Amino acid sequence: MCGIVGYIGTCQAAPVLLDGLSKLEYRGYDSAGIAVYDGNKIQMQKAMGRLKVLEEMTQNGATLPGTVGIGHTRWATHGAPSDLNAHPHFNKDHSIVVVHNGIIENYLKLKKKLMSKGYEFLSETDTEVIAHMLDYYYNGDPLATITKVMHRMEGSYALGILFRDHPDEVYAVRKDSPLIVGTSKSGNLIASDVPAVLKYTRDVYFLENEGGYEHFMLKEMHEQPKAVKDTLTPRIKNGDVVIEELGMTDEEIRTISKIFIVACGSAYHTGVTAKYVFEKLARIPVEVDLASEFRYRDPILPENTLVVIVSQSGETADTLAALRLAKEKGVRTLGIVNVVGSSIAREADNVMYTWAGPEIAVATTKAYSTQLIAQYLLAMKFAKVRGTVSQNDFDAMIQSLERLPEQISLLLSHKENVQRFANRYLAAEHVFFIGRGIDYAISMEGSLKLKEISYIHSEAYAAGELKHGTISLIEDGTLVIGVLTQPKLYEKTISNMVECKSRGAYLMGLTTFGNYNIEDTADFTVYIPKTDPHFATSLAVIPLQLLG
Ligand code: GLU
Repeated sequence: MCGIVGYIGTCQAAPVLLDGLSKLEYRGYDSAGIAVYDGNKIQMQKAMGRLKVLEEMTQNGATLPGTVGIGHTRWATHGAPSDLNAHPHFNKDHSIVVVHNGIIENYLKLKKKLMSKGYEFLSETDTEVIAHMLDYYYNGDPLATITKVMHRMEGSYALGILFRDHPDEVYAVRKDSPLIVGTSKSGNLIASDVPAVLKYTRDVYFLENEGGYEHFMLKEMHEQPKAVKDTLTPRIKNGDVVIEELGMTDEEIRTISKIFIVACGSAYHTGVTAKYVFEKLARIPVEVDLASEFRYRDPILPENTLVVIVSQSGETADTLAALRLAKEKGVRTLGIVNVVGSSIAREADNVMYTWAGPEIAVATTKAYSTQLIAQYLLAMKFAKVRGTVSQNDFDAMIQSLERLPEQISLLLSHKENVQRFANRYLAAEHVFFIGRGIDYAISMEGSLKLKEISYIHSEAYAAGELKHGTISLIEDGTLVIGVLTQPKLYEKTISNMVECKSRGAYLMGLTTFGNYNIEDTADFTVYIPKTDPHFATSLAVIPLQLLG
């Protein structure tokens, strides 16, 4: 991930660009650059390393005149981090300049073609083909030219582009990489993310790939494949899990005697899933605690305990208090946090960021999904170091993890199915979610989503527990949603569903493709793609979010 900023207005552009880029530093980068147009000449400065280097080179932007410009922080995908590979990239006569976030998948083919037409490449980036292609197709009309180039490119991109012939314009397009537009009296901006423009404006437009969403929650649900990928990919290297920010030696990992996962709300539910995953894979005992309980119950934290604190905002009051308590008691703490520089991120001994991007909807979706990923990775890392998982199983799990983003996309693309069902059950007053093990953890999150979004009363029950009293609330037509992603528990939960059915319940099943005999019991079934059962929460939660 990297960042793009663009500005056109009445102020000097360079300081605005540098300031915007500094707000995108949280996305990670290895080099930075800006290009500014003063109506006469497009000037560029770029440098490997921190933004500070660029700030010093340009005296905080003062040396670059002009009120139109684009800037970039790069996370190299094609070509090593270097001054030359840093963006922006020019066409041959410096009349077009471009910054790019993403990957041009067919760049080699394009590059060969351009070289055969005499284009020379100065960098090793995929991005430089864009500059030369714009040059190749340029006919005086930037929009027509960009459109043509977009038809030739495969992959993901957010682009900021300046044309020397069009001194009053900044062009921006996106496909599968984020880009927003901010408008203000003193100028208009583009950026990869909202924080970069907040200093100048609150009027922000989200450019969508395929049109807008009805509300933020739906938008953020659709951002889950990317959020999951962004959280996962940087931590999988050569088939291994690498968590540099963990700050623990293998020896320290081996001596962990107990893990506490402490959180609130949906983050707590990720902990409930993670407990099963940690215990199964790494064979470390785990307690999951609600932060509001943990902080007041004087918990016993044995030596070599690791306290994992999970929070989207990094500011959740109870969770922060729980972190402080754990620190007071002298045990090691690890924050899993989405907001960079937040209180929990600052105060925990170590912090593992989830790269979900800003979450605007109150009901969490993409932060939840990334919190799961962070904990799967931790559990796998611990399991590997402690020798509690075979290499074969580990390799297969890595493959399963890598398939998740695409599988989540698939589930989201079938949302009409869930929508139709939700329409039928609009008038439901009580809904029960039942499941065992990880399926129970999924049920808890499904139930919370339903409550907080639709205001329908619902309960999540460990499937085997329902019969101890609560089953008497199930009557004709009560909706019961059985979650059955865990092969070993499948038959058990089916039998609990049958119990509900005999009391007249209407049954929805949520299970894995292949378990078609569920249709003998359930009245309506949603299937999720096959994955390692430890990671099923990441898939099963999607239809439940949609249902909510
Ligand atoms: N693929 C481009 C490069 O390696 C852009 C990477 C990025 O998104 O920063 O230069």
